[in-house]
Amino acid sequence: MAIAREAAAGSVMAAVGAQRAERRARSEDLLVSVHRDRIRRMEGSGKTAIARVPAAVSAADVPRVNRAAPDASADAEWRDRAAQFPLPYFRVMTDFTDKFGLIVGVANKRSLSWAIAQATASRGARLALTYQGRFEEHVNELSQGLDQPPLVLPCDVTSDEDIASVFGSVEREFGGLDFVVHGAAFAAREELSCPFAQTTREGFRVALDISAYSLIALTRGAVPLMERRGGGSVLTLSYLGSKRVFPNYNVMGVAKAALEATVRYLAVDVGPRNIRVNAISAGPVKTLAAAGISGFSNILNIYRDRAPLRRNIESAEVGEAAAFLLSDAAHGITGEVVMVDAGFHVTGM
Ligand code: NAD
Repeated sequence: MAIAREAAAGSVMAAVGAQRAERRARSEDLLVSVHRDRIRRMEGSGKTAIARVPAAVSAADVPRVNRAAPDASADAEWRDRAAQFPLPYFRVMTDFTDKFGLIVGVANKRSLSWAIAQATASRGARLALTYQGRFEEHVNELSQGLDQPPLVLPCDVTSDEDIASVFGSVEREFGGLDFVVHGAAFAAREELSCPFAQTTREGFRVALDISAYSLIALTRGAVPLMERRGGGSVLTLSYLGSKRVFPNYNVMGVAKAALEATVRYLAVDVGPRNIRVNAISAGPVKTLAAAGISGFSNILNIYRDRAPLRRNIESAEVGEAAAFLLSDAAHGITGEVVMVDAGFHVTGM
């Protein structure tokens, strides 16, 4: 039995190794063409410049480029240079080809988690989407719009059995995991409308269990699967109500503060395994969860009027930022809360 297990694990590792080699080759091809195109653009503009390369490469390694610089051997030259530097610098930044992701928190097409599913799937990721009971039909319907059919699994994040079953299915189907998106949050409607001092013990427990503790449970389940892939990235969704007071956000603000602290503690805990943990703090977007906050339209109007970009964000912008944070492009970023709110958080008045 043990021998059979080892053989199976060996073949999974061999398959992962082969996929990586193929991905590297593809990425290097793209890198060559990116640099070649950049050089051509500089030539076209008549500029002499130093080609920009990833930060890890010293400027001394980069040739001066002028009108006469590249010749027919430019491809080979850049390919040689590319070969000197290890991944991930030479992967296409937000390519998800051959990556496996688990996305928790899709309820319908407006869900921020759905925007992230679309952004990662359109870049090649194979996904597992989970739904909470009543959203099964919606999620099944949505999943038909993705290029690669996702695994669609039930998961109530308050249930350890559900979480274990999700990771069991992901392991059987994918063999490993590259990223997890945690987009689950809940507070009872009464807790969001009563004066904050009236928050009940049970309302507090439920909000923090679903909206913050579940990130710990999901990360714990993901770690062994991410280790098989040489590391991974975990992302959750927060809101500025963690730091500032917004009317009717109440216990959810406390839950988001706990969630952001959880991101930092998890980042330190799993960082040595090359697993990153970050949050996006999104500006307000009309979703099902947002509908539970009375006066939400007023919050949208205030953001639109005061944010530096003078508009609200769109869920697709969260999807794009998430794709960055989940990808190798964000390889050096962990324990961070990235604001995607049209800049609202920087304003004082
Ligand atoms: P949404 O209603 O589409 O998503 C919330 C998800 O939480 C739903 O899919 C729901 O099924 C899931 N959920 C709730 N309880 C659960 C449980 N026990 N088990 C499993 N799943 C459960 O709304 P959304 O706005 O996309 O919310 C996603 C995340 O984004 C939340 O963390 C939310 O706080 C955060 N966020 C939203 C906004 C906004 O304005 N919409 C802004 C900042 C942050």
